[in-house]
Amino acid sequence: MNVSELAKAVKSGDRRALARAITLVESAREDHRASANALLTGLRADAGGQGKEALRIGLSGTPGVGKSTFIENFGMRLTAAGLRVAVLAVDPSSTRSGGSILGDKTRMEKLSREPLAFIRPSPSQTRLGGVARRTRDVVALCEAAGFDVVLIETVGVGQSETMVAGMSDLFVLLMAPGGGDELQGVKRGIMEMADIILVNKADGDLRAAATRTAADYAGALRLLRRRPQDPEGFPKALMISALNDDGLGQAWDEMQALATWRHDNGHWQGRRAAQARAWFEDEVRQGLLAQLTSSEKIRRKLDDLGQEVAEGQRSAPDAAAEILSDLADP
Ligand code: GDP
Repeated sequence: MNVSELAKAVKSGDRRALARAITLVESAREDHRASANALLTGLRADAGGQGKEALRIGLSGTPGVGKSTFIENFGMRLTAAGLRVAVLAVDPSSTRSGGSILGDKTRMEKLSREPLAFIRPSPSQTRLGGVARRTRDVVALCEAAGFDVVLIETVGVGQSETMVAGMSDLFVLLMAPGGGDELQGVKRGIMEMADIILVNKADGDLRAAATRTAADYAGALRLLRRRPQDPEGFPKALMISALNDDGLGQAWDEMQALATWRHDNGHWQGRRAAQARAWFEDEVRQGLLAQLTSSEKIRRKLDDLGQEVAEGQRSAPDAAAEILSDLADP
């Protein structure tokens, strides 16, 4: 199958073609990279720039908070409404091949059997930059394949949240019920990225704690300055029980309300435009980094100059300037 046949098959909703296309964009091979770019360009051209937009939802939370349980029941709810749902996982810590702790399909047993759903584990890459690059491509593929909702899941560690928020239309943070000090542990930056905080496990013995936690987060969110891309009342905190499928309908209503408001007020397009620009700049950066390490000559020079800098024979800026001028004019 050549690239244009593959593009056609992806657009027609052929799942095996989609899986093949994803494998192609995830490949590190240079010739695959060229085909992947051609594929993505072809899909854009077919859509005439007017392709249907999926709702991209970023979802984060610490391990054990209930992400898989949430995605399983939330996803089933969406597919029951006739929506096509793609689930992608970004697990920066995963170095295993062919899957990851996050991507394990057995975590979402019902959803993985659902014909309207597509679950894809995290690409196995050691560098977060590499994962980001591939995931953006995969989101674009899912969008071209006509999915209505693309859920991008990540664990609540470090930079991966910023990365996922940077490729989502909405960012949802899943939290566990806890005491007041729980709030202190959430980094301000992450709170600022969140559009909706879902306090999970609001059931049984944990319900009272969840109520308090949701009120705490709601208070904390009110203290953050309201952002121009938000309507009244957002960002907001809600209680849910992913396990009992309780509150998930309301969570979906809120997500849709926010998405619609942003659409109608120009913020959706603005956010996507800024993301596209950041993506481009990131591609250039990653490409430059790749160039640095792809040439044996430059690698050796990096080593030698690094040694000279370490021994105090050269200044760091001077040595760096030499490498950069080599890159510009090899
Ligand atoms: P993940 O690591 O974030 O994907 O979390 P999981 O979805 O695997 O859930 C971790 C544990 O929490 C499992 O034992 C779930 O059954 C449990 N859990 C998830 N959601 C809920 C919930 O709403 N209520 C309760 N009581 N337990 C839940």
